[in-house]
Order: sequence, then structure tokens, then C-alpha cells
Amino acid sequence: MVRILAVDDVPENVFILQTDLEDEGYEVLAAYDGEEALALVRQEPPDLMLLDVNMPGLSGLEVCEIMKADEATKNIPIILVSANSLNDDVACGLDCGAHDYIVKPYQLEVLMARVRSALRLKQAQDELVVAYAQLQKANEILNTMATVDPLTSLGNRRYFLERFSVELARAWRDKTALSFLMIDIDFFKAVNDQYGHLCGDKVLESVAKSFLKAVRTVDVVGRIGGEEFAVCCPKSSANEVIVLAERLRNAVAALRINFEGNFISVTVSIGVTELAPEDTQTKDLYQRADRALYQAKEQGRNRVVQTVAQTIN
Ligand SMILES: [Mg+2]
Repeated sequence: MVRILAVDDVPENVFILQTDLEDEGYEVLAAYDGEEALALVRQEPPDLMLLDVNMPGLSGLEVCEIMKADEATKNIPIILVSANSLNDDVACGLDCGAHDYIVKPYQLEVLMARVRSALRLKQAQDELVVAYAQLQKANEILNTMATVDPLTSLGNRRYFLERFSVELARAWRDKTALSFLMIDIDFFKAVNDQYGHLCGDKVLESVAKSFLKAVRTVDVVGRIGGEEFAVCCPKSSANEVIVLAERLRNAVAALRINFEGNFISVTVSIGVTELAPEDTQTKDLYQRADRALYQAKEQGRNRVVQTVAQTIN
């Protein structure tokens, strides 16, 4: 039910307003001075307020200004009701933030039309607030979808490459080391072929989880392809990261992944490289790590291979 607050220091005026509005089906609350009106507004926010201008204590204009300055009450439309019909008074009232201004004595039909107009505004505002909240929520979901791999909850390729660029820029700026790991699950196709894609998914999930446990909080982990993962390690030389890479490799090799009673074991090959002075973009590290990964595969898989910049020049 639409709730209207009628405020006037003359009880008869409030009574008349109340009767007229209740006849139209509105719920009407009454207040007889500014302080009482403000207290009521905070307790039971109305959809609309009819506010007398001339009152002892806080005037209607002051009440209006207080409400418009308060985030919690600023969207409640106010219709000022006053015997002052001078243009200045009307302008002053509207400048205080009132939605409308009605001069007493008023015609009932006009008052009701203005009440309906103010209520339409309030409803539109309320709908906007709801729509805005829904939009924000949808944006959050979209943002998550755009950056997170739904299967493993790791950052997806796009998110990872973005973070990688940021970390690279930071390393250049701070003149610190940075290392990069590319990881590929060995013979992953055989798992899919033998046990099906659901099993493959389970393996990807388990491997991703073991990575998250084994990396340091500063490291950025992403799933950058089907069974391909990457880790960006800020402030770390390749020699430091070899230790991390071995930890990741061992963590995966130790997994016994239960899929419908079958215990699946997989291994990973890892290519490691570190930032070199001649690198100008993430692609340079990416290509080098990819080459190291290829060598790890060539040398029999389930191993870590490091490539330094000079070896490919
Ligand atoms: Mg008065």
C-alpha cells in the first residue's frame, strides 16, 4: 500500500489531507512538526511527503533540505503545501529539492493529480534502484565468466595473460626478476580415450587443485589451454622457480585420482624460463618456456626443463 506522510502544524489541515488521501486508498501517516516528521521518515519511510512550509521549529524548507542531504531519504518526493503564493516562495521551495509546490487553499482534483505525478516519479526511481542492483550483479557474473575457468576455478587464458603483462611491467619498473612456467599434462589424450571426458575433467580439476596448494601466494596460476597451465612467478629467478616446478611436478605425480573406482595417475612436463634483458613482451618468455616444455616432452616427460634466453639466440 502506498504510504504518504502529511505534515502540518495545524491539526485540522492534517485531518483534511488525511481524509482526502485515505478516500483515494492511500495509507496516511501524520506529523505535526518538522522534528516529528523527520523521526517518522526514518522509522517508516513514506513513498511521498506532503509538507507544510510554515511551521514553528523546523520549517518545511529546512525539513526538505535535511531530507535531500541524507542518502537514506533523498529519494522520497516532497510536495510543499503553503499559503505563500509568491513566486519567490515557490522557487525557493523547489530549489530546496521539493518535487512540487501547492498553494493553499488547493483544489482536491489538482492535489490528487500532483500526488499521482510524484508517486509515478517515486516508482520509476525505485525501479531504477532495483534495475541498477540487478545490473551490478549481472556485471559481476559476467566478469567472473570472462576471467575464470569454470572447470578448475583458475584464471582463464585471457585473465592469466593480462596478469602476466602486469607482472612483467612491474618487474621492468622495479628491476626485479620474474619467471614463467608452462605446464602440460602428459598423455592426457590417453586418459580421455580410455576413461572418457568426464574423467579427463576430473583429472584437470585435481591437477589444478594440487597446483593451487603448491604455489606461493605471489604466484599467478592460469589454465591457458585444454591440458595446459601456466604460472607467473614475480620476483623469482629461474633457479628459485626450478624448486617450485619440481614441487608442482611431484604433487601431480603423487595424485591418485579416483574416478568411478579407477585410481588414475598422471604426470606433467614443465618448461621454465626467466626474464632476460632482451625480452620486450610476454610473448618472448612464452616462446622460451614453450620450447623448454617441448624439450621436457622430448626427453621423456614427467620432468622440468629450463631454457635461458641465450640458448635460443
Ligand atoms: Mg503551518
